[in-house]
Amino acid sequence: MTETLTKQAVQETMASLAYRNQAFINGRFVSAQSGKTFTTLNPATGKALTEVAACDEADVNAAVEAARAAFDSGVWSGLPVAERKQVMFRFADLIDQHRLELSVLEALEAGKPVGECFGMDIPDTAATIRWHAEAGDKQYDAISPKGAGTLGMIVREPIGVVGAVLPWNFPSMMAGWKLGPALITGNSVVLKPAELTSLSTLRLAELAFEAGIPAGVLNVVPGLGQEAGKAIGLHPDIDMTTFTGSTEVGRLFLEYSARSNLKRVTLECGGKNPQLVMGDAKDIPTIASNVLAAAFWNMGENCSAGSRLIVHRSIKDALLKEVVQQLEEWVTGDPLNPEVRLGALIEEAHMNKVLEHIEKAKAEGYEVLAGGTRLYAETGGYFVAPTIFDNVDPKAGVAVDEIFGPVLAVIPFDTEEEAIAIANDTCYGLASSLWTSDLSAAHRISSAIRAGTVSVNCFSEGDITVPFGGYKQSGFGGRDKSIHAHDQYCELKTTWIQVG
Ligand code: NAD
Repeated sequence: MTETLTKQAVQETMASLAYRNQAFINGRFVSAQSGKTFTTLNPATGKALTEVAACDEADVNAAVEAARAAFDSGVWSGLPVAERKQVMFRFADLIDQHRLELSVLEALEAGKPVGECFGMDIPDTAATIRWHAEAGDKQYDAISPKGAGTLGMIVREPIGVVGAVLPWNFPSMMAGWKLGPALITGNSVVLKPAELTSLSTLRLAELAFEAGIPAGVLNVVPGLGQEAGKAIGLHPDIDMTTFTGSTEVGRLFLEYSARSNLKRVTLECGGKNPQLVMGDAKDIPTIASNVLAAAFWNMGENCSAGSRLIVHRSIKDALLKEVVQQLEEWVTGDPLNPEVRLGALIEEAHMNKVLEHIEKAKAEGYEVLAGGTRLYAETGGYFVAPTIFDNVDPKAGVAVDEIFGPVLAVIPFDTEEEAIAIANDTCYGLASSLWTSDLSAAHRISSAIRAGTVSVNCFSEGDITVPFGGYKQSGFGGRDKSIHAHDQYCELKTTWIQVG
């Protein structure tokens, strides 16, 4: 769909943008009670876009109060699910209608290529809301087999008030992954976007309200993690937090729960994902194009980025030659240009961290096959060239740390056992790819890899029909996407009735 997007359409949309930069609480935009704001920047220029309400505990309290009142009133939780479904369909339609506006907001604030936002992130967000809405009234609860004078009903009920705390790399899509299952099952939500990317989420909340999601059911509290995020984690009247972000911050949500009300916690966290290419893998051009997409899509700011290429020594050189050649098609530049495939990194501090990883790998003597530098510093933007290091030791920092930038470490291997051991030698277990033309090896190796998703002969997280989440320190307590996500937003109730 990217071909329908023109520079002119993007420029016209930018010219007419009005930022929603206040909190959205109980169906209204309001300033933070403290009156404080923070500045949100365009990472492609380093310049300020607007000031955003800096919510803290007081605003989170107000949002939770509105969410609880809406939940208890039954205005949403008490509706037949088929009615909630219709409202969510309208919400999805409005997202589609505002696709260009939301795409431009994400490109401006997150540095993401506008073509990708328009071609994937925003339509996928609408599709996610629609899929969960459609699935809602296709599920049945259960009756116990006990029989004989008793009726044991096992039903799922909405959990209540859900706090959602989100990252900056896919602002709308991550919101969609949480809101779809949380709303269709009848919950109220208090959502905190990452402070670096509040604008598209605030607009989504407004569209949800316009679609008919009642006041108080979806509240958005922009703010810093230490303030608004922590207040959500510790709030005694939030029944569940659903978090996507770093493993480091994810851990805090388990602590917050333990220190407050034992709220349910689900975490989607980091990854250092292996791409295994076995010696019998065929079709080097296709593998190369997938290797690049896995490593550099969304500037590598992607939890499922395939940042470790573990490749059989016999085909390494042929594959890398093709990879380096195809990399020329990955144009880095202005995220608002629909032809660009790599935009800016999210902020200066993050860019500097990525560059430090690159310098360290250089100092350790790893061969730079591509990139290795900052680009376009004169624009004030935070651009880093897609970078490939060859012959990396599996224990090196560049092969172990989640860099969350456009950096690929190539690690050669000789035996299948060695490849599996390297792939699993990480504290993470989110995603992985495997390339082989041997069906038995595909089964054997994919079952040996400790990761939530193994994609064979492709790079893919799968679509909305399959769960997404991690083993080990990549996740906790559940999965996003698919019908499996619905259960985690519900409590399970047994009603035991003596009938005879
Ligand atoms: P982050 O952990 O820094 O921030 C995530 C959210 O937590 C933000 O809203 C932030 O404000 C909040 N936060 C920060 N400190 C907090 C604190 N002390 N208390 C409460 N809340 C706090 O992550 P990020 O930099 O926004 O995103 C990048 C990370 O997200 C990467 O590690 C990436 O792998 C992960 N991620 C995972 C998935 C997945 O599905 N597994 C998807 C996208 C991103």
